Amino acid sequence: MEVLDSGWLTTGAKAREFEERFAALVGAEHAVALNSCTAALHLALEALGVGPRDEVLVPTWTFAATAEVVAYQRARPILLDVEPDSLNITPEIVRAAVTPRTRAVIPVHFAGDPADVAGLREVLDPLDIPVIEDAAHAFPCEPRPANGRLVGALGRAGAYSFYATKTITTGEGGMLVTDDGTLADRARVMSLHGISKHAWNRYTASGSWWYEIEAAGFKYNLTDLAAALGLAQLARAHELLDARTRLAGTYRQLLERSAVADLVELPAPARHGTHAWHLFVLRLNLSRLGIDRAAVIEALGARGIGASVHFIPLHMHPYHRRRQDVRRARLPNATAEFPRVISLPIWPGMSATDVASVVTALEEILTPGRR
Ligand SMILES: *Cc1c(COP(=O)(O)O)cnc(C)c1O
Repeated sequence: MEVLDSGWLTTGAKAREFEERFAALVGAEHAVALNSCTAALHLALEALGVGPRDEVLVPTWTFAATAEVVAYQRARPILLDVEPDSLNITPEIVRAAVTPRTRAVIPVHFAGDPADVAGLREVLDPLDIPVIEDAAHAFPCEPRPANGRLVGALGRAGAYSFYATKTITTGEGGMLVTDDGTLADRARVMSLHGISKHAWNRYTASGSWWYEIEAAGFKYNLTDLAAALGLAQLARAHELLDARTRLAGTYRQLLERSAVADLVELPAPARHGTHAWHLFVLRLNLSRLGIDRAAVIEALGARGIGASVHFIPLHMHPYHRRRQDVRRARLPNATAEFPRVISLPIWPGMSATDVASVVTALEEILTPGRR
């Protein structure tokens, strides 16, 4: 209401305040508020000068955004297999994929389970290859060992999402964080039409009518309306995390003791930090079931329970399948895990009773004979 009453709806003081609070919370020098995580990933690559003939390593186990931003820069996304427990890329996987053309690596902290950024940096820092974290699922997560920063602020740059389903939301929104002042300045300029920093100040009281276009930029800025939502969500981030963590614990407790305990696999414990529980991903032991994943999702849906799949690996989508290097790629873990993953509902407003009814529904669906 304060933003509406002020009459200043687009990027201004609230967006600045959101950036400052966010940077302080994650322990990064700079934060740039943007209208999506996709924009943040794109601007990080652009600022690093990633271009044609460059390769950027990304997991195949991710959302469209992680790879498409590489294509925006006319560079080539190289799809990597994932470690089967976490469904994250590892230092070993990355080491085997690095070539002289590798210009950046984008790990995804899948479901909110932190990837091993410290391990990735041990491999990549000596080669001067930057890590750009796709932290769309991973806010707020502490790395292990803790180092005064949050996951997403461990590489050269990090990108967070405030999309409607993410752990904090502004409807649509994102944040780019970095300690690199040159990268932050370039991202800021490119986020608003390539108009120079000098001209950026025209949005303040001390601004003037003069502006200069320095490059063909983008329209990626976050509005003050969205930033106001972000500030309110930020203040509740740990309360929302606690709710998700409790719900994940309830799922674990009930599933371990349930009639389907031997028919499903629970998420593996997070090894490189605290889990954000953006998603609760179950694996079906398909060989013991007389029903496939699609039928399970449909049967849950018929009971009013919305389940989904995260993700259909990138290499299975037509756009990537048409790419020759993808057709040749060996991605056995992602390919094997894909048919068995199912994301159960998890959101802070859910109750323990809701979780219990999901588990009961799974029992009814997976063990029809036994009940
Ligand atoms: C949601 C998501 C994004 C994109 O976030 P937007 O804010 O919608 O651009 C990027 N990467 C992953 C892994 C995501 O799940």
